[in-house]
Amino acid sequence: MLQTLVLSVTYKCPIKCRYCGVNAGPHRKEKMSLQMIKRLIDEAHSLGTVEVVVFTGGEPFLLGEDLYKAVKYAHVRKLLTRIVTNTFWATSRDKAFYIINRLKDSGLTELNFSCDDFHQEFIPIEHIKWACEAAEETGIPALIASKGLRKSTITPGYLEDYFEGKLTRFQKGQENNKNYVFNYGTTVPVGWESEKLTEKDLLWPEDADCWKRPCQSVLKSIVITPQGKLSICCGIGSEEIPETIIGSTHDYSLLELLIRANNDLIINWLALEGPYGIKTFIEKRASDITFRDRYVNNCHLCHDIFSRKDVRTVLSNSVEDMVPVLSLERAWVENHRDELGGKATDKPITEQYQASA
Ligand code: SF4
Ligand code: SF4
Repeated sequence: MLQTLVLSVTYKCPIKCRYCGVNAGPHRKEKMSLQMIKRLIDEAHSLGTVEVVVFTGGEPFLLGEDLYKAVKYAHVRKLLTRIVTNTFWATSRDKAFYIINRLKDSGLTELNFSCDDFHQEFIPIEHIKWACEAAEETGIPALIASKGLRKSTITPGYLEDYFEGKLTRFQKGQENNKNYVFNYGTTVPVGWESEKLTEKDLLWPEDADCWKRPCQSVLKSIVITPQGKLSICCGIGSEEIPETIIGSTHDYSLLELLIRANNDLIINWLALEGPYGIKTFIEKRASDITFRDRYVNNCHLCHDIFSRKDVRTVLSNSVEDMVPVLSLERAWVENHRDELGGKATDKPITEQYQASA
């Protein structure tokens, strides 16, 4: 059930991070109009299941006054609102306070600040500090979202020292209703400098099997690109995985596109088995196609699958063979809806389905 509408309001950004999934930067021009944002919020609101509108990009603060108006528009419709930002605008404590206070008046409910080696190449870390202080003073919960490589300077320890023991680590499933919470993850090698990364550069998670899970966000969150395309991928840039783009919100309503997404084979596959299920299928169909031994997470594997021509060819030639299996798995999910409680599962549905068969 759709819960989160993510509006990627622009691909323009004052900086150009090495591993940016949407290849944002000062060179990009795409931007949503306020009129379009309002239409999408209205459509999402009328679905009756959407709780949160996320404004991201690129850098959403480049919308200027339209950002405050958009937040207010969603707030009036009783939707929660979150802004994901690199804090380029927090050039002093006073400036950060002024801006966050205005957002509070517009009804904003949550902020996410990106903070890691790749953002802090361009943005002084003091911006994050001032933005955090202003968020706390204003009473808007703020999460610091950080990603690293094996040799990153900005690590959990670095952040804990920098914030002098104020930080607590985000726990999976936790509601973000506090200040000074941080989430640290592994960098997925996508973006303009990703080709240079080797296996040794990557930060491998403790949970070695984390890439074998179903996609946790598919069909629960949707992303609208600045050009108005609907993508079901919240992990890495939708442009990287064309299979996750359902159609244009200029041509179809959100409802029509969601119905299409719900009936899409690849999308159901990602939701039920994750990219790991697709990888297993490919390996059975084409023994000459090989994959890495491990991935940092399921988005990493997903990117590998959909960026390879050989893999895509096998998929497009034989994806229909999965119809009976996925139909059974989906029926199983429908029958166990109460047990699952609408939550994403950590295990592929195929395993749960076979265990109970
Ligand atoms: S990762 Fe964020 S801050 Fe960095 S270039 Fe992309 S959109 Fe801009
Ligand atoms: S698993 Fe694939 S579809 Fe899901 S969020 Fe990651 S990249 Fe996107």
